[in-house]
Parts: sequence; structure tokens; C-alpha cells
Amino acid sequence: MILWFIGTSIATIWFVFHDKQFAYRLVVAGALAPDAIEIFLGHAGPLHSLVTMVAIMVVVMLVTYGRKKSRSEMLAVVIGMFLHLVFDGAFTNTKMFWWPISGLQFGDYSLPVFDRGLVNIPLEIIGALLILWTRRQIQEST
Ligand SMILES: [Zn+2]
Repeated sequence: MILWFIGTSIATIWFVFHDKQFAYRLVVAGALAPDAIEIFLGHAGPLHSLVTMVAIMVVVMLVTYGRKKSRSEMLAVVIGMFLHLVFDGAFTNTKMFWWPISGLQFGDYSLPVFDRGLVNIPLEIIGALLILWTRRQIQEST
């Protein structure tokens, strides 16, 4: 629910970029944001749609034009949000994932994290291990 998204997002960023200067905290903020926000909706909403993520990405690119630092910071958040969709398995719900292309109605889908039920327990353990692993990788890369 939490460690799963933290662990998978930072491990992915480390695996892809091998950059200890990367804004990992902002990636984590992005990775936790969709559930943290939509838990108040009571169902999965636009932040579990790939289309929304692409739209946010485009807005970030436009708004931060010519401002390199704020662009890289905001992109770190958006990348975290993308990774949330991946590790949430959001793509398994086609209607939610392609909203609003798949139709404007959301349907009443609960957040994938609640659908997983007890599967969240091993995922949290894996997430904790990934956090430890990534931390060690970052520390050992001098
Ligand atoms: Zn989610």
C-alpha cells in the first residue's frame, strides 16, 4: 500500500538511471499521490488513467519551458505517478486506464490497492526489501 510503491519506484529509477542525485523523494511523492488523493473520492479516478498522466506530462513540459530545475523536479513527480500506475496494475482495468477515451463515466471501481486485499502484505514486504536494496546500491556507488 505504501512501502510497495516507495520500493518499486525508487528501485526502478535506480535501475534505469543509476543516478544517486535523482530526486528520489519527489518520485516517491508522485508514486504515493494517486492513492493518497483518490482515497478521498472513495473510488479510482482520473489519477489511475494513463491519459491523465500524459496530459499532466504535457502541462508540465509547457509550464516549465525554459526552467530546467523546476522541470526536472516536476518530471520526477510525474514519473513517480506513472510508476504508480505500473505497479498498481492499473492497466488491468481497461476502462479506468483509458479514461476518458474509454468513455467519460468512471464506473465505481475501488482503488486497485483495496482490490488486492491480503496480497498487499507480501507486496509491502517486497517493497521494504526493495527500499533497503536501493539504499544499499546508492550508498555503495561512490
Ligand atoms: Zn492506485
